[in-house]
Amino acid sequence: MDLGYMGKILRVDLSNRTWQVDTIDLDVKRKYLGGRGLGIWLLSKETLASIDPYAEENALIFMTGPYTGTGVFSAFYNITTKSPLTGLAASSHSGGTWGPLLKKSGYDALIIKGKAERPSYLLIEDGSCQILDAREIWGLGVKKTNSFLQARHGKVAVATIGPAGEKLVRYAAIMNDIHRAAGRSGVGAVMGAKKLKAVVVGGSQKSQYHNRKAFMELSRNGGKKAQQNAAVFAKYGTSVVYSLMNERGALPTYYYKGGQFKRADEINGEALKSRYWIRDKGCFNCPLKCANVHSVTEGPYQVEETEGPEYETLMAFGSNCGNANLASIIKANDVCNDLGMDTISAGNTISLLLYLNEKGIVDKGIVKGLDLSWGNPDTILTLLEMIAYRKEFGDVMAEGSMRTASYFGKGCERYVIHTKMQDFPGFEVRRAYGTGLSFATSSRGADHLRACFYVNELFSTELDPYGFGADKVNILVEKENMLALIDSLVMCKFGQRNGGYTLEVLSTMLTHLTGDEYSAEELFQIGERVYNLERIYNLSAQKEPDVLPDRLFEEDLDDALEGGTKISREEFKEALELYYKNRQWDELGRPTPAKLSELGLK
Ligand code: SF4
Repeated sequence: MDLGYMGKILRVDLSNRTWQVDTIDLDVKRKYLGGRGLGIWLLSKETLASIDPYAEENALIFMTGPYTGTGVFSAFYNITTKSPLTGLAASSHSGGTWGPLLKKSGYDALIIKGKAERPSYLLIEDGSCQILDAREIWGLGVKKTNSFLQARHGKVAVATIGPAGEKLVRYAAIMNDIHRAAGRSGVGAVMGAKKLKAVVVGGSQKSQYHNRKAFMELSRNGGKKAQQNAAVFAKYGTSVVYSLMNERGALPTYYYKGGQFKRADEINGEALKSRYWIRDKGCFNCPLKCANVHSVTEGPYQVEETEGPEYETLMAFGSNCGNANLASIIKANDVCNDLGMDTISAGNTISLLLYLNEKGIVDKGIVKGLDLSWGNPDTILTLLEMIAYRKEFGDVMAEGSMRTASYFGKGCERYVIHTKMQDFPGFEVRRAYGTGLSFATSSRGADHLRACFYVNELFSTELDPYGFGADKVNILVEKENMLALIDSLVMCKFGQRNGGYTLEVLSTMLTHLTGDEYSAEELFQIGERVYNLERIYNLSAQKEPDVLPDRLFEEDLDDALEGGTKISREEFKEALELYYKNRQWDELGRPTPAKLSELGLK
């Protein structure tokens, strides 16, 4: 009996319109668990790292993990594929109800290859699979698609792309439960290239527990702890950190020119709560319910009911675009969700355009009639539609910020704040050096969820945010491995962090769930193995160096706070060398044969 798992994976070939049921060897499961871990293992086995992300051979892998749908903080699932934005392994997570329902449909995972001849969607219920015609819903936004499919199929969950995925916007998301996004790295564009509009899941199957009572006790204990430790987070969601980041001078403004926004009070968590909040909402079985439902009932940016925006989105369409109109940010978030686009990359691509305009680089003719000065909400909303439908200059911006910069020539790529082609999230790293290092080493390009290093440098005073050093490097490597593990068990990171789910607790829970003995050391090594396998895949896919953008080494921050001067290239280089050494990688960042052998990757 495959306790904790459904024991089956579903393989779909859209080109031949066939599907088959498969299994994964127990020893592979033991080494990678599920989610991000099994996802990268499958991607490495199923595809050549050199393939075109839009090729039929690219695998779009939806993975649950042993924890998905079991206790609290178990709502998540993972998507792994080759990214059209970065050319590296993409791995995106999302909560809601879709992951638990994939498992209830009878499968741990879904591997989709090929390309449908006409728009299609999958209906997966209680072990069956149908490839159905999606021509009626092709072109629709996420909300309408969701309503249509739920009206047709009843009690199901829907993961779908919007027009942005259909049009192959390189940062298109896959949306589930309408507002939950597997947002980063363009997984939605891969789905669009396969002409797959949606995956609908439902069923009543259940995975079995070795010792359900003991597992649930530990799971719920963590839930209670998280309720105590993160009450303020539950109240405001991630928007609670907006004011804090502004105070610390780490809130990106005017496309990473400064770290403080003079009008932050107008668009922070408190403003959102007091002016537009309707109710809390949570993922499957979550005691924190960190999602907030808002509505805007008057003015030009009305929105009926919508989830979010999260902190990152408040940054991307707010301070980083110089925009202090909160209603318009709620609207932009809702529009992005419906079009199916990553708000971070969409916001960054727009703020880059405003930044280049300020520098006198943008010829007004390319965006006729649009005011490209900072802080115009109508410009932001118009550009979002242009990008998603690839209209006029939106066609260039749909290619991402680096490719947009290349369009203008004149060496404009040097202005783009990215690593490995992926836009920075909402943390100004000239006031958090370790966070900067973590964006450079992140296996999916600049990203806030691979190490969550800002928690150590900016949310607390545990570490001096300026400077690098061996201690920071040790913490970074530990956190990267730990979070690779959490993404492989498939668990919500907020819940894990605030619920006190240590390696010891997690290994005991996994033992109770599966009946197999796991130690804390073994789990930690699984995280390390996953990080190394991602590295190996990425090295064969495309040699994108672990660097930070030039501007961070050359420009001081333009705000009133002390600190925030340019990072020393020499110190960053030394930190990277320390990082490689700590990971037992060579001077070019390649895992050494000894490390590969230790991790069973040879
Ligand atoms: S804490 Fe938030 S993101 Fe995590 S499971 Fe709960 S509602 Fe979902």
